[in-house]
Amino acid sequence: MRKARPSILILSGSILFYILSFLFTLFIHLQFVTLSNTLLFLIPLISGIFAYTIFYFIIKRFVQFRMSLIYRSIQTFENEQRKDQSIDDLVAQGEHDVKEWKQKRNQEIDKLKEQAAFRKEFLGNLAHELKTPVFSIQGYIDSLLDGGMDDPAILQTFLERASKSTERMSHILEDLDQLTKLELERIPLDIRSFDLLELVKETFESLELIAKEKKFSLFIQSSDPYCYVNADRNKLAQVFLNLTSNAISYGKENGKLTISIVQIDDTYNIQLKDNGLGIDPQHLPRLFERFYRVEKSRNRNEGGSGLGLAIVKHIIESHGQQIQVSSTVGIGTTFTFSLEKSKATGPVSSRGIPLK
Ligand code: ADP
Repeated sequence: MRKARPSILILSGSILFYILSFLFTLFIHLQFVTLSNTLLFLIPLISGIFAYTIFYFIIKRFVQFRMSLIYRSIQTFENEQRKDQSIDDLVAQGEHDVKEWKQKRNQEIDKLKEQAAFRKEFLGNLAHELKTPVFSIQGYIDSLLDGGMDDPAILQTFLERASKSTERMSHILEDLDQLTKLELERIPLDIRSFDLLELVKETFESLELIAKEKKFSLFIQSSDPYCYVNADRNKLAQVFLNLTSNAISYGKENGKLTISIVQIDDTYNIQLKDNGLGIDPQHLPRLFERFYRVEKSRNRNEGGSGLGLAIVKHIIESHGQQIQVSSTVGIGTTFTFSLEKSKATGPVSSRGIPLK
């Protein structure tokens, strides 16, 4: 698009005005009063310059006024018009700002579309996740009502299964509630110095029974005897719990998970490496999305809510860090993230006072 140059228009108008006033002066000179040659040229010249100045200022004021109305209506930009700005600069700035505004609007529209698609997908996934346990509870209750409850063994089994499905549903809702609270930042981070090794050991202890059932081994390796970090201990506990239980769920019988903690500069780099089923690279970019499951049937980890990794990612990012994943099908999966190393070299109280 060609740039508008209103000053050229004004100049052309003034030249036209100059020619007309020259013809008019000539007419006066020939018909009524005889004028000297100087006056004959000077009068149209002065009226031309006069016309240019008047046109220029009137049009500039008009453009300034109209543009300030446009700026007010789009409300996005501060109106930065300066008094000394030429009319060409004024129009050029207006064109530039409107272009920028249009780009911003388009970006906002794209973002809204993305959010709408995300909401639709999220609701679809949530419905799907809840449908499975609800349908199975309904199935067990119907079977019991249809006479199954007369047999004490069937009654016991079906009630146990229905209870498992309710457990699964409440697990999904609890995770969803936690994720929403995290996203809305309703639970502020409680950053304190604590020993990461101790936390990992606690996680292993809490999953000992599940690991034993699968003959799954859990190992810790660390560069230091204590690994003090500045982080929210409870939230980090959730991170290790989710990642470790995933490693067990998606691991092989007799499989293993090694958590290694290595100090790099002012951080501790944490790596969780398993030798499980692995994940096809095509799934990795979407792995941390809510309800994203690698397996199509969604049945591989019946107990899982599909929100575990979304929660993990959120917690790590709220600590100002990133989590990475690499995986090879049949070989295993590795999750890596870092945490800020604490200056403390021993345990500290909730007020930051050293305990030893
Ligand atoms: P889920 O409740 O299904 O475990 P997550 O968000 O914790 O939900 O995990 C998302 C998906 O990522 C899982 O369904 C699984 O397919 C895959 N996944 C997570 N961790 C591992 C792992 N250590 N090994 C293989 N696959 C994994």
